[in-house]
Amino acid sequence: MPHTPLTTLSEIVSPLLSWYRANARDLPWRKTRDPYRVWVSEIMLQQTRVAAVLGYYQRFLSAFPSVEALADAPEERLMKLWEGLGYYNRARNLRSAAQTVVKVFGGKFPDTYEGLLALPGVGDYTASAVASASFGRREPAVDGNVLRVFTRLTDCHDDIGDPKTKRTVRERIESIMPIEPEDIRVFNQALMELGAVVCAPGGPPKCGTCPLAEKCLGRRRGTAESLPVKSPKKARRTEEKTVFLFFRDGKVALRKRPRDGLLAGLWEFPNADGAMDETAAGVQAALWGLTPGAWKRRLTAKHIFSHVEWHMTGYVLKVSGDGPEDFFWADRPELEKRAIPSAFARFLNETKTILSENDTGGNLEGGSLSWA
Ligand code: SF4
Repeated sequence: MPHTPLTTLSEIVSPLLSWYRANARDLPWRKTRDPYRVWVSEIMLQQTRVAAVLGYYQRFLSAFPSVEALADAPEERLMKLWEGLGYYNRARNLRSAAQTVVKVFGGKFPDTYEGLLALPGVGDYTASAVASASFGRREPAVDGNVLRVFTRLTDCHDDIGDPKTKRTVRERIESIMPIEPEDIRVFNQALMELGAVVCAPGGPPKCGTCPLAEKCLGRRRGTAESLPVKSPKKARRTEEKTVFLFFRDGKVALRKRPRDGLLAGLWEFPNADGAMDETAAGVQAALWGLTPGAWKRRLTAKHIFSHVEWHMTGYVLKVSGDGPEDFFWADRPELEKRAIPSAFARFLNETKTILSENDTGGNLEGGSLSWA
């Protein structure tokens, strides 16, 4: 790493703090030092945009205003409140960490980086962010935003996907961190804020409005826009699926996903591997013990997870029969109570429309497809 001398690097602190104090966005989790609230916000913000988190954050804290309330949260309620945020293990880890805080620490959060790191779902970044924001600990919180700002500032061309690079950046930031708890708190947030709004991803950095422009090696050398260096991700694999919207007596069939793996324990529409044509889909329905009555519609949808992409073909059909034991037949109010991941959003919307049509006298007869 071509290093900027430490004396120069430490010169970023003062302009950075002043800039943040004058320009920081007004976000609810910045108005508190309560570790519970800071921690909930940090977990929600992982892989999720600020704008998307705002509403969820307020609703979640109204439902679970304390770590004790979260520790006692019923699974369905927890998942329902998380519905649409994705990465559902975050919600489960939140609850198990809350249970640990209540059982092991008597409801008080550990106030050190190491103590926080021991909680389920809390990694290096979150432990540092909570330790500094809530307890004024001198712990650099290095996320993607900070890595981008720092590699540009120091004209560092090391691969940020390499844990060694992250460790080095963390050490270098720690070496220039302020001493006063209030400044520590602001310093971490200021680096992240700069990376979110000025030295931001997806476009050229806004060096003209950057408080660190004078000190920035990447800007001076014209390399900033090509930084950070990141080795290409492995290609996502594609999975084909066929999703079934089975309707019976104003109800739709749902089932619960397995306890482990992708979208564990959430509700879904029955589905099977592969892109089935009508004939195969009819056979699958029969294998589940259902007798198809009328086809309504064929739908397609795509959902991208971090490592896999689902390409889904969906069939809407009216059936008779109960289906397997794990099918649950939900009317509209029951559907509203259940957390169905956004991977199925297209199908969920269609289901809501159909159930509403049924409410108002519409029905599923006369579909556009017929049995092959
Ligand atoms: S001067 Fe430009 S490249 Fe350097 S930190 Fe500021 S916005 Fe980023």
